[in-house]
Parts: sequence; structure tokens; C-alpha cells
Amino acid sequence: MVVYKSAQESIPIPNLDLYTFLFQNSKYNTTRPRDQPTVICGATGKTLSFNQIFDLSGRIATGWKEKIGLKKGDVVAVVAPNQYDHSVLYFSILAAGCIVTPANPDYTEVEFQHQIHSAGAKALVTVPELLPVLTKVAAKNNIPKDRIFVFNNQENKTSYPSFYTLAEDSKHIGHPIRGIDSNDIAFICFSSGTTGLSKGCLLSHRNFVSQCIQVTNFDANANIATDILLGFLPFFHIFGLTNLVIGSFYRQTPLVIMAKYNLERFCQLVEKYKVTNTSIVPPVAVHLGKSPIVEKYDLSSLRVIGCGAAPLGKEHIDALQKRIPAAVKQGYGSTESCAGVVYQRVGISPAGSIGYLTANTELKLVDENDNELGDDQEGEVLLRGPAMFLGYLNNPEANEKTFTKDGWLRTGDVGVFNSKIGEFFIVDRLKELIKYKGFQVAPAELERVLLGHERVADCAVVGVYESSQATELPRAYVVLQSHAKSDPATAKDISDYVAKNVINYKRLRGGIRLIDAIPKNASGKILRREIKKWIKAEQEKE
Ligand code: AMP
Repeated sequence: MVVYKSAQESIPIPNLDLYTFLFQNSKYNTTRPRDQPTVICGATGKTLSFNQIFDLSGRIATGWKEKIGLKKGDVVAVVAPNQYDHSVLYFSILAAGCIVTPANPDYTEVEFQHQIHSAGAKALVTVPELLPVLTKVAAKNNIPKDRIFVFNNQENKTSYPSFYTLAEDSKHIGHPIRGIDSNDIAFICFSSGTTGLSKGCLLSHRNFVSQCIQVTNFDANANIATDILLGFLPFFHIFGLTNLVIGSFYRQTPLVIMAKYNLERFCQLVEKYKVTNTSIVPPVAVHLGKSPIVEKYDLSSLRVIGCGAAPLGKEHIDALQKRIPAAVKQGYGSTESCAGVVYQRVGISPAGSIGYLTANTELKLVDENDNELGDDQEGEVLLRGPAMFLGYLNNPEANEKTFTKDGWLRTGDVGVFNSKIGEFFIVDRLKELIKYKGFQVAPAELERVLLGHERVADCAVVGVYESSQATELPRAYVVLQSHAKSDPATAKDISDYVAKNVINYKRLRGGIRLIDAIPKNASGKILRREIKKWIKAEQEKE
């Protein structure tokens, strides 16, 4: 019976809001000249330095307050592919005492509506291409036209101003920024958690401040001064947000930014900027290990490749390392833990582990009755520490299920502490969540969409692991209405219907199986474990 504690000494977490912490208290921000590029646009080569980000974000913050009238705690929705000036915008919103809710720019209108409505956004920043759909969503949510802004001033041919106009004639908000408490909310990121639909995760300033300190401290030997990071992970997801936008800024590691992932572009940029570090998800590891594109470029500058968001198998690490002599370092965490809180150690950790706890993080493993388990026993991973989120927005029921009475976060993941190796491993997932290439697919959401099809009487969606792509694929088990024909044309029609109604990565790539009844317990809950057993049996036959 054991509570696992970090082997590292606890570190005091300063009681500061994230903006003050990043700009005033970061010991790292003095290690590099403040006028050197700290972010670099991979597409255009444009750069911004620490000083420029400080000046612009401070002046725009004043604009949010004085020109737009945003009040402390107001939420601003940011919907855009990664931009080189994303940090300017995010930091300006935080400096004004407001909250960012970052959304996936590829969402459908229904998905945008869900997030913008649930988060209660009062203003919106996006890219010009998304204005047709987002102005409709904004109108539905009473966001007035003069609270809609865009990135990209020069190319902006729309009637909506760039958010940089908020900096015009604005004075820097001045320091210290008063009135923001470290426990105030900084970001509302969306995650389905252990069950149900996507929900707003309340992440505080303190969560991010803790993450910066814990992760930086974990790698005390990392060669921060000479690191150059390449980032394509989306800045709306916790992995890209915490590690790239915020973490790299805190560490003052220059970050080369890609709008989205593309292997050839990735290789070109590694070669051009002699990139030393990058963060990936498992399917990218497969590309790096297999694609002929990799052979065309010199990727020898890469030293450490961080990988997270889903499990990464040894075969893929081996294939990658045959071609690129970089260390692959897995990390484990979630939106609810404000990104990674368990990390491998380079040169020590074996393939497949998730490694060691960061300082100030505690972990325990429990059985289905919440009894604490010991070494080498598999159980649900519970986490506690300063990076754990505050709870789901307006959802006491989900909060009750997610936290134990003494403040432990239930992750819905099954883990084990291997006493021979001395490291943690993730071995399974209890929660219904499916991860397609690192993106969350909530079965409950797809089930709701499926039930909207006239021929579907009942359904259940589960993930099927596809090892050649190192990802799960969402698959639907469907019971048809009695009048519907049980043939491939019907299955295709249902699949097309889902594809039309959800973002690309949520499509039913694992196929549709037409069956007679969905296995359920007495209270009508889908027995996903039963369906997983069918899949296992099917895979064993293949
Ligand atoms: P998200 O909130 O989108 O970051 O998803 C978090 C979930 O992704 C975790 O609860 C795990 O189920 C999964 N996950 C993240 N990192 C890993 C990892 N290194 N190994 C296995 N599963 C992971």
C-alpha cells in the first residue's frame, strides 16, 4: 500500500500569476539576450524576441481592458492554427486578467458552438478563413462584431481588425499586474475526461507556473542554452500549450513554429535551424521511422524527441532510432494534469515506460474499490500535485467523479510501478476515451451523432488499436432500426453521415459493425469492456 512520491525534493511554487512569473520572475529569461528571437515562424522566418512579446502583450492587454471593456475573468476564444505570435495573444489576454479558451480550428460549426457556448466566451480571435463560420457562432453567443479580431494584420482583407490594433496608442499595462490571483483561471481547455462529452477544464495560473518549474527542474542537466525547439503540436491542446507556447518561453528556448504537421516541412526545418529538440505524438514516430522523406534530410542535430499523448511501442522507437540518433523521451499526463507529470530519463528509461514523477507530484494506484495497491500491481492511476486542474466548468457531477475526497485526480488510466526497473508504465485505459493520433475522440459524442441517423436504433463506439499507425481508430457497433437493411450500403451511409457531422479526426476509421444488441449492464450502461474483448478475439484470429 503506497503513495508514490517524487524522488526529487519538493520545490516551492511562487504565488504569482503566469504573466508576472514569465516576464518578471523567470530565472531563465536572463540567460539569453532579451532582444534575440524567441519564436520563429517556420513558414516566413518572422521572429519575435522576449522584449517584443513583453511590450506587445502588455499594450494589447491594456487594449482588451480599455478599448474593448473586457473585465477580469472574461473568456476569450482563440481559434487558429499555430501562429508565430500566438504567445503575444495568449499572454495579452492573461495580462488583462482574462481567460483563454483555445479551440481546434478544424472543428465543425456544432463543435465550435459547444466550446464557445460552454466556456461563455465574450470575445473571439481567429484567422480570416474561419470568419464565415465563426461569425455565425459568435452571433449565436451574443459576441458583438466589435469583439471579433483576427491574426495576420498585413494579409487581413476582412472587415475585422487585427488584435494588434488593440496595441495602438495603448500604454503598457505596467507592473506588477494587480488583482490576478495565482488560483484564478488562465485557460479553459476541453477534454472529455473519464466519461461523457467534452468539458471545459479549468486550469489556473498556478497550474502552469507549477508545470514550468516542475518540468524544467526535472531536466536539470538539459542543455537549455543551446537547445532549439521545433513545434507543430497544436497550441490549443495542452501538450502544445504547456510545453511549446509556455514552457519554451519560460526556458527561453527558441521555438521554430509550424502551423501544422507535415513531415517534409518538419525535416526541412530541422535541417535549416539545426533543431535539437522536438515534441511528437506516436504516429509521427512511425513516419520518422519509415518514411523515405526522412532519408533526404540531415536530421543529425536532433538530440531529444519528446513523445506523449498516447503510448509509443518499442518497435517504433527502434525504427526511428535506426535513422535518427536522438533520444526518445516519453512523457505522460493529460489536459487535467496540465500536461506531463511523469517523464522518462534520457539514457536510463527503457522503451515503453513513462518514467519518473516530477517534483511535487504524487501518484497512487488503486483497484476498483479504491484500495491502494503496491509495487508491480496494476491499478487506476491517481495523481495529486500543484499542476492538477481545478475541475470541470459548471459540472459538479463530473467533478465529484473525477476527484476523491482527499483531492486525488482519477486519470482513468491503468498503470503499474515496476519495482525491478523503478519506473511507472501505463498498461491500459479504463476510461472510454479514444485517442486518434493524439487527439481526443469522446465515444459519447460519436454515439450522439450516430443516434441522429434515422436508421440507427442503438450504438456504442470504442477504439481499435492499429499498431502500424501507432494509434487507435474509432469504431462503431450499431444496432439498426427494425425497418433498416443490414447491408454494407447502410453501413457506408452511416459512416458518411458521421463524417459530415464531425471534425476529420473523429471519423469512424475503425469501421462500422452491424450487430443485434449492444452489451449493457442492468442500469443501461454500455459494457465497453465486453466489446473490447470481441476486438481482442478478432485481432488474435488475424
Ligand atoms: P489529453 O487530455 O488529450 O492529453 O489526453 C490524456 C490521455 O492520453 C491520458 O489520460 C492517457 O490516456 C493518454 N496518454 C497521454 N500520454 C500517454 C502516454 N505516454 N502513454 C499512454 N497514454 C498516454
